[in-house]
Amino acid sequence: MRTDVLGVGFDNLTLEEATAAGAALVEAEGFHYAVTPNPEFILAARKDSRFRDTLQQAHLVLADGVGVIHSARILGRPLKGRVPGIEFAQALMGWMAAHGKRLFLLGAKPGVAELAAANLKSTYPGLIVCGTHDGYFKQDGPVAEEIRSSAADVVFVCLGAPKQEYWMVEHGPSTGARLMVGLGGSLDVFAGVVERAPKGFQKLGMEWLYRLYKEPKRIGRMVRLPLVLWYALVARIRGK
Ligand code: UDP
Repeated sequence: MRTDVLGVGFDNLTLEEATAAGAALVEAEGFHYAVTPNPEFILAARKDSRFRDTLQQAHLVLADGVGVIHSARILGRPLKGRVPGIEFAQALMGWMAAHGKRLFLLGAKPGVAELAAANLKSTYPGLIVCGTHDGYFKQDGPVAEEIRSSAADVVFVCLGAPKQEYWMVEHGPSTGARLMVGLGGSLDVFAGVVERAPKGFQKLGMEWLYRLYKEPKRIGRMVRLPLVLWYALVARIRGK
């Protein structure tokens, strides 16, 4: 049973549990995909049923972002905690390195995925990065084929939402990968192109504030975020 937060069902898992669930999906036959919705996703899903369905049909739905946690609490259905996509990816790579699994990195500007691959291989000794591709391609088929020939078990798909979710659903099954994870701007962080907020900000749940300070142009995207808390309050009052 998933925990509904304003129309998006979340798996109520700790980071450790989510990692174990991710590993189990890699070991299971067939194609699976994981999504990491934050409040922006929730707002988008309320307006776009295709996006909402794509999130609902994912095999793993992780609560990325403190806004999701606050909304769930306001709704009276608290989640165990935040599972930031980037931390899930890190924990999964630790497991992959220990189990000889193959990782493909897809997304970000040309050159970034290669830089990320080099950093990740030194952070996770034994990690096999079997291929990379930037996120600004025109034709999907050749990219899916490249993933297929790399024999990747896992693909980090970092094209931004909702593009990455649609891409996973449409092209994932043909690649032979067991698990694709939609991870937004994570390759930029792994490559060292963009810094993650310092630990203090992360602990306080203020990562969004740091990000705004670093990239003020995100203000347009961010001003709407408190809306999810408002919607949660309204839903609670109405007894939904
Ligand atoms: N991106 C991409 N192809 C596109 C559009 C975006 O590869 O057509 C990349 C972009 O370079 C960035 C990531 O997708 O690395 C999206 O970053 P954003 O900050 O929007 O994602 P968030 O982390 O907020 O989900």
